[in-house]
Amino acid sequence: MLSTFDSFTKPARFDDLVQSVQHCNLCPRLCSRRKVLSPANGNIEAKVLFVAEAPGRLGADRTGVPLHGDRTGDNFEMLLGNVGWKREQVFITNAILCNPQEDNGNNGTPTPEEIANCSSYLEMVIAMVKPDVVATLGKTALEALDLISPHGIELQSGVARMVPWWDRKLFPLYHPGPRALIHRSVAKQRADFMLLAKQVDPVKGLLERKRPEARPARLAVEQPTALQQAVRAILEMQGKLTFFKLTKLLYLADLQALIALGHTFAGNVYLRQVDGPWLPHLDKELKPMDGFEVRRFFAHKLPMVARGPSPRFGPELDDAVLEILTEVVAKYGGLSNAAIKTTVYQTEPMRHILREERAGKDMRNKPVLYRNKAAGNPEA
Ligand code: SF4
Repeated sequence: MLSTFDSFTKPARFDDLVQSVQHCNLCPRLCSRRKVLSPANGNIEAKVLFVAEAPGRLGADRTGVPLHGDRTGDNFEMLLGNVGWKREQVFITNAILCNPQEDNGNNGTPTPEEIANCSSYLEMVIAMVKPDVVATLGKTALEALDLISPHGIELQSGVARMVPWWDRKLFPLYHPGPRALIHRSVAKQRADFMLLAKQVDPVKGLLERKRPEARPARLAVEQPTALQQAVRAILEMQGKLTFFKLTKLLYLADLQALIALGHTFAGNVYLRQVDGPWLPHLDKELKPMDGFEVRRFFAHKLPMVARGPSPRFGPELDDAVLEILTEVVAKYGGLSNAAIKTTVYQTEPMRHILREERAGKDMRNKPVLYRNKAAGNPEA
């Protein structure tokens, strides 16, 4: 059967596969349901192929688009968008192509027989798309791949680790559905997607590791500081942003770290400047990253910072710090400069500074936030 498929162009083979699936009646309780395999599954030239569990009742079974139209779909699209990927750049399918609906109308769990029945289609889809990386979403998808070529990986220990599998790579992820978030928080899932995006581009495929020794020694970052790592993590999530917003995101994350962990994550000291809290040494820390992890330029006369072309490190941060950064970027990263400034001015340390200024004190260059203390909160 595969040799027949190989004799046609990829779009023609895909069309044949879609047509043959529509007549499948292998699973008695599922065969009358919609078979979710069509051009809406994504790009057949994609370098990344996602495998989830099954079409959802309110999602793909209704819309015909995998991982779209329900809360699971919303979460997946958020995770994808968070790393700057578009649905059209990847291919998405499921361990079984039909919605396993229970008699009461709720989503059910696919049986081992149904997964085994549909694994031939999954194998054909993967063999045809030829992705560099197959990213599984959840335990069922991971187990379905084991039927195609045994990998012996368990989700809990293997999550977000790239491993060789069936002449390509396998990258296990948790399922983005609301129930799975109990086992893996949104923040951790965002970080997992970031790790995936660091290693593979949906269009170009697996990314080569850059060799630092090929770069001029004067620009090398031997041991990146926690602040440099934090900037790197923010740029991974945001792509590009104004220098102004970068300082405000760092401040909000450090304030959150102060509240949650009892200290700023890099021993940072923020001073009161005209536009709010400012990190005096940020510019100095960015310089050795310029052209590598960071690209600096002007847009509409505003200084900008963007993800650099040849990152040499990280981000490698404590889970707790990464979680805080991820949450802060998700919450405030989309705000305009004016809106994030307002947010920053509404934080307690800045409100304290403003109260002092209203009382006639000169607070310029006074610390707003430092190591384990915040202005207005000396006990912090
Ligand atoms: S789940 Fe797969 S094998 Fe079962 S009926 Fe649907 S298409 Fe056929």
